[in-house]
Amino acid sequence: MRKETIAVHGGYNNKEGWGTMNVPVAQTTAYAFRDAEHAANLFALKELGSIYSRLTNPTTDVLEQRFAQLEGGAAAICVASGQSAIFYAVANVAEAGDNVLISDKLYGGAVTLLTYTLKRFGISTKVFKSADASDLEEQIDENTKAIFFESLSNPQIAIADVEKIVEIAKRNGVLTICDNTVASAALFNPIKWGVDVVVHSTSKYTNGQGSAIGGIIVERDGLAEFFKENSKRYYHFVEPDVSYHGLVYVDVPLPNFCLRIRLNLLRDIGACQSPHNSWLLLQTIETLGIRMEKHSNSALTVAKFLEANPKVKSVNYPGLESSPYYEKAQKYFKDGKASGLISFEVADFETAKKVIDSAKLFSVVVNIGDSKSLIVHPASTTHSQMTESELKDAGINPTTIRLSIGLEDPQDLIEDLEQALS
Ligand SMILES: *Cc1c(COP(=O)(O)O)cnc(C)c1O
Repeated sequence: MRKETIAVHGGYNNKEGWGTMNVPVAQTTAYAFRDAEHAANLFALKELGSIYSRLTNPTTDVLEQRFAQLEGGAAAICVASGQSAIFYAVANVAEAGDNVLISDKLYGGAVTLLTYTLKRFGISTKVFKSADASDLEEQIDENTKAIFFESLSNPQIAIADVEKIVEIAKRNGVLTICDNTVASAALFNPIKWGVDVVVHSTSKYTNGQGSAIGGIIVERDGLAEFFKENSKRYYHFVEPDVSYHGLVYVDVPLPNFCLRIRLNLLRDIGACQSPHNSWLLLQTIETLGIRMEKHSNSALTVAKFLEANPKVKSVNYPGLESSPYYEKAQKYFKDGKASGLISFEVADFETAKKVIDSAKLFSVVVNIGDSKSLIVHPASTTHSQMTESELKDAGINPTTIRLSIGLEDPQDLIEDLEQALS
């Protein structure tokens, strides 16, 4: 099936089970077992089925299957938020004494989680340049458990050299984890380019209406083989799990990465997705493809307007030919569509604040991927805790304004920006 068909039908057969056209919400905490043997079989993985909604839920299961198919993966697991998706993906392979290589162009929450919070658990990070991965290989050592990067980064709107990162990771037997939130599963599929694990904040474009927080982790087919080949680095998957009656993950004929998160991290840490949020995401994922096309087309129209406006010093949008990321957008993204984020520079800090305050249609919001257009001044809000040099490294100037282009008529957005800039 093609992606727009998967988005509507994937993971659900209305001729079986519920028989409803719309997937119902299984708003339940627990499940009744047929008898003692049924319960024992479920715990022993001899039979698959729901035990408790922290671990699995039938509504969430449909979303997981649908999302895995959309990303071209073998399996997916929903979790409470994008942040918990990143935490689980990394904690599934790394522990005290290990390190993770992280891109220099990342979401602020990912930076604080990976750099500061994981450090308290003994996991350290080293930063590499994602634009060309020129300093990636030299930083890999025997304790490196993952390479983490964003395909299209938020807020820098930079595109990683996915091919080069994957090539280096494969040569060294290190797992790659790609945050594909901003590009979305509709425009880009990291697994098709050889990435091992994909994470998303489904709170953004997947939801598309700013109505639910969620996260998801998708794994490629064949990770059990990868873990066996690199058994020293990924010994958790080849040695018995004493916390799960000696289970050896690579011996289980189920996608290993998500299985271990479910049986281990979701069981113990418990940041699971609510069934109601899974249901909301099943509604919105149906329109992901057409929404991403519209977000991208409108963003390109607005970016071209900004580029031609004398009050604007520069515009960063990967769909513009002037962008250093233009070629990567053409190479990686569906029809070269570059999603809905734009950033631009005005003359000074005061002008930036005036533009924010004068915009009427744009809401001043620190979110992205909503159907409503959003505007933010990172230096005085999302990135106000950073020092001047950290801001510079993150590519944020005091004069940077970021837009998340929604689904309004782009002409109305242009008129609003025109008056705000005048
Ligand atoms: C928002 C975001 C996250 C965090 O997701 P939440 O659902 O807010 O926890 C992670 N990565 C990227 C790229 C994001 O934009």
